[in-house]
Amino acid sequence: MKSLRNLYRLGPGPSSSHTIAPFEAAEAFSRFCDTAYSKIRVTFYGSLALTGVGHGSEKAIREALPNEDIEVIYDIETKVKHPLTMDFVALDEEGQVVKTARYLSLGGGEIHSDEDLSVNERDVYPFSTLEEMKTEMERLGVNDVKDLCRYYEDADIDDYLMKMLKDMFSCVEKGLVAEGRIPANNNPRLQLNRSAKAIYEASKKLGHHDGKKEIALSAYAYAVAESSACGEKIVTAPTCGSSGVLPACLYYLHQKRRIPLAKLRDSLFVAGMFGNIVKNNASIAGSVGGCQAEIGTASSMAAAAICYCFDLNLYQIEYAAECAMEHFLGLSCDPVDGYVIIPCIERNGIGAIRASASYLFARHISPVRKNKVRFDDVVDAMKLTGDSLSSEYKETAEGGLAKILR
Ligand code: SF4
Repeated sequence: MKSLRNLYRLGPGPSSSHTIAPFEAAEAFSRFCDTAYSKIRVTFYGSLALTGVGHGSEKAIREALPNEDIEVIYDIETKVKHPLTMDFVALDEEGQVVKTARYLSLGGGEIHSDEDLSVNERDVYPFSTLEEMKTEMERLGVNDVKDLCRYYEDADIDDYLMKMLKDMFSCVEKGLVAEGRIPANNNPRLQLNRSAKAIYEASKKLGHHDGKKEIALSAYAYAVAESSACGEKIVTAPTCGSSGVLPACLYYLHQKRRIPLAKLRDSLFVAGMFGNIVKNNASIAGSVGGCQAEIGTASSMAAAAICYCFDLNLYQIEYAAECAMEHFLGLSCDPVDGYVIIPCIERNGIGAIRASASYLFARHISPVRKNKVRFDDVVDAMKLTGDSLSSEYKETAEGGLAKILR
């Protein structure tokens, strides 16, 4: 498995696989071109071709290479093996091809190329499942996931994760005061103003028995998800589309439960390993596994982080992460008109609440009812389910709500 640096990245929304990855591929291709060229032609396939406009893929490429002559083609006819495929071709003045590279967007902003090998990340962890991780912890004699991570990551990982935590909090705080329209096309269903500020104000007036905590959590999640939908910079956790879930839970723990920053940073190690295991054995991309892969994973990661902050043991942490994912199994990805607005923003609020409920189950139900489903099992089930989902429900904006609300 790869470094947690690979999982948590700061980059522009609204979709890590459709904005951060094309941005990085464009920069990488320009470095890869070692001969003179006058123009770059980019062809998007699969989900990138179908939702690239609403997801800002072309904009990301133009921002990465502001001084280049760029032609973008949306090819929805050609069948490709991977749903997030992009071809970059450099052309000389006569229109002759001088360099080509194909990049795959793997989810969460990561890219892979068989031609431009410089973009391929190396593995730092010698295991890939939770059971293997536990065995490795036993072998090394460590009880805390953060110590296992520190053993394999570089010496600066604590500083990196603290920066990611602070960036997450800054996204929540900026989103809580932001106002104005969320950019979209002319579909009347998508004409929405930013609402996190109003939701947070509403939460303050609620009593503890009226859902005060859940509405505050949702306000924090909306704050980040709305920023992402507006193309602002957020931290992938594990993706842009699901970037509100984990920060909302951590911000709540800091503000309302006084959990110190160092403990919250350490919870990012734990959350990150659960996200990494999903990424390695299934997928965190909606275009590959449906929304269960994005919001389901984000909710699992947040559930694990909450349990860690309240000093639950690894069995309970696994219980919560498994529970959060299990009840999102089958969740389709059907963004209306290809914009990461409906159902995505609301789904971040629900994901945060699910994470909090999963923590409660782990704390109060796990001691009296043993969980028979391991985290590795639910990841396998998620992959199986994602593989069986029709492409209409995998970030193509062709099925479900995207079809009904056209
Ligand atoms: S429906 Fe879920 S997976 Fe699909 S774009 Fe929205 S947040 Fe991402």
